[in-house]
Amino acid sequence: MFRFWKGPDRASSLIASWGQGISAWAFPPRCPFCGSPVSEVHQPGLCPPCREGLRWLTSPCCALCGHPYPPGGSAHRCESCLREPPYFDQARSLVAYEGPVARAIQRFKYQKDFLLTASLAWVAEHYPWENETFDVLVPVPLHRNRLRERGFNQALLLSRGCKGLNAKNFQPGALKRVRPTAPQIHLTPSERRKNVSGAFQVRRPKEITGKEIMLIDDVYTTGATVNECARALKKAGAGRVSVFTLARVVLP
Ligand SMILES: [Zn+2]
Ligand SMILES: [Zn+2]
Repeated sequence: MFRFWKGPDRASSLIASWGQGISAWAFPPRCPFCGSPVSEVHQPGLCPPCREGLRWLTSPCCALCGHPYPPGGSAHRCESCLREPPYFDQARSLVAYEGPVARAIQRFKYQKDFLLTASLAWVAEHYPWENETFDVLVPVPLHRNRLRERGFNQALLLSRGCKGLNAKNFQPGALKRVRPTAPQIHLTPSERRKNVSGAFQVRRPKEITGKEIMLIDDVYTTGATVNECARALKKAGAGRVSVFTLARVVLP
């Protein structure tokens, strides 16, 4: 006998696939970075140009601050680190802060586009110290006024969204921004240093003394902010301080 009806499982799977078809037609998946429609949905949902356009900052780079060098170079210290060694022991960033990823970070930060969290966390999961252990993971804190205004700390959200960084030793409150600072965006490198000088304090130095720290932020520009955080951590007796940022401003 011909049987069209194959039971409730078959019916529900048919309805589900129609539902998927209709929703794909009505709301075609779009690349979270550039908004262009994507034919295939795959982690992290980026379109091929955005995925392939990410400029991964792999070695060689300055052994201290991570300043990238052209292929074939050695990991010697850069001029700036030789002139004035930073307080942190090493800093690494994953991608160059440019093009769609830079616009995505800005939208995430200033327009609260949280749909980008998963894609940015996917980038962050490629962090370079998979096999190293850290005693304490600390996101760079915002001052409470800025936090009230923005509603969230982007460094904290990024590090929470990234499975690879979601360790038990995550201590978002270890560092405190004790005074508000002007946005760094239009400042020169020396103004940036002055702007953040003395802006951070370790809440409970006993919990930091002798510890291996990983400091997390979204973008490394001149390193003034993370360096000032590292200074406060070292003053509290921290052991090694490593800095990890998602993106880095790479000057031509
Ligand atoms: Zn795209
Ligand atoms: Zn350097």
